Amino acid sequence: MSGQKTNEKSGEGEDWLLPEENRDHLRGLFAEMREPLSLEVFTKDGQNDSYNEAVVRFMRDLDRLGDKVKVLFHKIGEGRAEKLKVFRSPTILIEPDKYPIRYTGAPLGEEARTFIGTIMLVSRGVSGLSELSLALLSSLDETRHVRVFVSPACPYCPGQAANALKAAIARPGLVSAEVVETGENRELTVKYQAHSVPLTVINETFRQKGFYPEERFILELVGLKPSEELIGKAKAEAGIGEETTEVDVVVVGAGPSGLTAAMYAERSGLKAVVLEKGVVGGQVALTPEVENYPGFKRIGGIQLMELIAGQARQYCQVREGEEVREVKINERIEAVTDRAAYKAKALILATGAASRKLGVPGEKKFFGRGVSVCASCDGWNYKDKNVIMIGGGNTALTEALYLKNIGVNVTVVHRRDSFRAEERLQESLAREGVPALMNTVVKEFIGHETGLTSVRLEDVNTGEQKEMPVSGAFVAIGWIPNSKLAAGIGVKLDEAGYIAADRSMRTNVPRVYACGDVIGGVRQIVTAVGGGATAAVSLFEDISNPYWRK
Ligand SMILES: Cc1cc2nc3c(=O)[nH]c(=O)nc-3n(C[C@H](O)[C@H](O)[C@H](O)COP(=O)(O)OP(=O)(O)OC[C@H]3O[C@@H](n4cnc5c(N)ncnc54)[C@H](O)[C@@H]3O)c2cc1C
Repeated sequence: MSGQKTNEKSGEGEDWLLPEENRDHLRGLFAEMREPLSLEVFTKDGQNDSYNEAVVRFMRDLDRLGDKVKVLFHKIGEGRAEKLKVFRSPTILIEPDKYPIRYTGAPLGEEARTFIGTIMLVSRGVSGLSELSLALLSSLDETRHVRVFVSPACPYCPGQAANALKAAIARPGLVSAEVVETGENRELTVKYQAHSVPLTVINETFRQKGFYPEERFILELVGLKPSEELIGKAKAEAGIGEETTEVDVVVVGAGPSGLTAAMYAERSGLKAVVLEKGVVGGQVALTPEVENYPGFKRIGGIQLMELIAGQARQYCQVREGEEVREVKINERIEAVTDRAAYKAKALILATGAASRKLGVPGEKKFFGRGVSVCASCDGWNYKDKNVIMIGGGNTALTEALYLKNIGVNVTVVHRRDSFRAEERLQESLAREGVPALMNTVVKEFIGHETGLTSVRLEDVNTGEQKEMPVSGAFVAIGWIPNSKLAAGIGVKLDEAGYIAADRSMRTNVPRVYACGDVIGGVRQIVTAVGGGATAAVSLFEDISNPYWRK
């Protein structure tokens, strides 16, 4: 094999990229590797130089952490790169003679974890897919090339990247996986219109937006059709009914509130399950930094939620990718998802809130192609580009500051003459020199097939309109409670659509409790966890001594 091997393994005293604590952790992990493997790194001077440098340093570190990982460095344009069809810098291939796994771009930020996870799976020669996924994948008899577009701070990207990588490990003869960092590969990002990540493109045409639960991903990978169609058909053909699980409490939503509720329920001796339609973390996973959660001066939103979810998982099952689509109230309460039905004595609704839409022309059309509601997911695509942040509350200003911090030219657009956000954030915005257009509203999102190109703004005082060229627009104009499920079972809502719950987090429907953002009020992490704990304690008391039977 051509390629230049790195220096001797010891590497002590040399310049490390990884902090000592991470090196120790990785040394421990690599010691558990079954088979040695090779990582091949391809770079080209003048193409993403700063990322090339970061990748080379990261890979050198990995190479020096033991004898199991061998790193080979190549230049694009030379024989090995031509043979393996590597044209983009940086690119990393994992054990390329055996597995069609490719990182197009540096696996930094959130992606580093998936990358290390993949190394460990490859070394063991196992995919890590569930039995069901493996069974579904065994029916594949054609090739699939899966491209997952990601960005370093996107909380949902690692899960989707892992889906593709595991499938390639399981069926390397048929499935190839490529993780594409959007910020470093603008041309591909534009070509595939991957302005909102994660975006998965299978065999050039079939697209999945967002993070998919593993089995759903595999089902669609094989069938190249939306899973709803495929599941319904397969169940009908096989005559399979719904799988039913019996628990004491079903918690809907794995944000801070739901996870805390489940933890408290289990600690009272009740069997709980948390059902989450996406991934754990709720809105906190979209929060770049949290500075007001007691005990942490400053912590990344994802990190905080990993700690909370890790603790919850010690007590109960947290099932991601299971949206509760229907609740039936009978002698037992039944929560129905695509995969199963859960019967319980009580239900806790911790469904949180979703971002509010502006409702103007072009918003839907350009959603995911310039219009976004998640700066930490999509902000990286707009480095050095002009974008607007629409809104005047804490979220809008926090996200505008985040965008500014990562090198995006952001202007805040707000319909009033003053911000609603905390004083501290307003001061930071002024200090950072983020421009703001006050008394201004967005009337239309304008663009063409490749995405958003401008917005039409209107001065609310004069009615004067102007077109502002932008590549992106982030909408942060508030939240609407996810209370549809509650309304469907007769739970009372207030005039703004929030669930009406009392101090014990009871709703008007016996055995149904609600907590967190879905009940309105202060809508912060501390209140969400407080509400979760209260709901669990109340329902424990009520199950032991039902007030509705008195
Ligand atoms: C950008 C941003 C920054 C923020 N910064 C801060 C901050 O610095 N400090 C602070 O204290 N707060 C902050 N907040 C507010 C904080 O995130 C929320 O108050 C908190 O997340 C509410 O928690 P929750 O568990 O009630 O709901 P959520 O976090 O919204 O979680 C609800 C969960 O329920 C799931 N769900 C909904 N419907 C279903 C269904 N039918 N089936 C299954 N699952 C379902 C959702 O997918 C979601 O994961 C911020 C919010 C945002 C958006």
